[in-house]
Amino acid sequence: MEEVKKKDIRALTREQLRDFFESQGDKAFRGNQVYEWLWQKSAHSFDVMTNISKETRDMLEANFVINHIKVDQMQRSSDGTIKNAVRLHDDLVVESVLIPTKSRTTACVSSQVGCSLDCKFCATARLKRMRNLNPDEIYDQVVAIDNESRLYFNRPLSNIVFMGMGEPLMNYNNVLKAIDKITSPEGLGMSPKRITVSTSGVPKLIKRMADEEVKFKLAVSLHSAIDQTRTSIMPFNAKFTLADLREALEYWYQKTKSRITYEYVVWEGINDTKKDIDALVDFCRFAPSKVNLIEYNPIDDGMFQQASNKAVDTYVETLERNGIVVTLRRSRGKDIDAACGQLANKS
Ligand code: SAH
Repeated sequence: MEEVKKKDIRALTREQLRDFFESQGDKAFRGNQVYEWLWQKSAHSFDVMTNISKETRDMLEANFVINHIKVDQMQRSSDGTIKNAVRLHDDLVVESVLIPTKSRTTACVSSQVGCSLDCKFCATARLKRMRNLNPDEIYDQVVAIDNESRLYFNRPLSNIVFMGMGEPLMNYNNVLKAIDKITSPEGLGMSPKRITVSTSGVPKLIKRMADEEVKFKLAVSLHSAIDQTRTSIMPFNAKFTLADLREALEYWYQKTKSRITYEYVVWEGINDTKKDIDALVDFCRFAPSKVNLIEYNPIDDGMFQQASNKAVDTYVETLERNGIVVTLRRSRGKDIDAACGQLANKS
């Protein structure tokens, strides 16, 4: 007998599921019931859908599969950070991280297997991009971390950052669909204000998000406000220049009135001079901005080195003097390679 290729049922929208049931001569609301099982209750099999008849469940089983991620390995850091190695249905692996603090639990999720971009200081960039994650694969990472947060910290997940593997804007549609599910009452019902999408900065897509009036927050990995320097460490900057980025961000702010966060690592001999700081201050002027100074997490080749405390202090002082909010972010989970830029499926 010819094997029928079963469809991934979670790729269907609620409307498509309703239509499917109608086309089978059943009631459209059956589609709602199944949709609820798939998303709100994260069902892994049709068998658990107890308000659906056995006959219908068998019919679904014959036509569809329910793809789910599998947390293959969970590692816990001495500081409480948890890293999940997440196996996808085609056996590729991505990583996601749970970062606990006193008052919140943040999930750091991946959007691609590998990455489309080529930042010289990032371990994920070396994997190249293998494929984009589907909306359900992004959503499932969040559900897995929410469960871990409840289990280990007795509280639900409070925040999500798209700072895992991949460039979220290079997987624009799926990332936005996943966020829709995460924020919808039919999914996890989380507030979009607790979600941050971090991008290396694709001007056209930043404008598109602004036009779509998205409600989540935006973070931009800037690392330098001087084109020549930025291009040397983030080569795609040659194509998406700072002038274009700035114009797109200005547009973003006009439309959303949402403050922009810049992520920034200070490296010795790369961006640790007064000229670098002045360029950053100037870049921050056109819209309310916050600068997150991130500690560098070495990725083994010695090309980059965290700048001295003195250089970082000068950044902090100068930014503050110019009325720009600045935070110093300590790395979490370094002992398990879970910190920013270290996600590379090493273990
Ligand atoms: N592609 C997206 C999101 C993933 S990277 C982006 O570029 O924003 C998440 C953050 O970690 C980015 O700010 C990135 O610049 C930073 N990062 C990458 N490698 C790092 C490293 N080795 N040490 C510290 N931060 C790093």
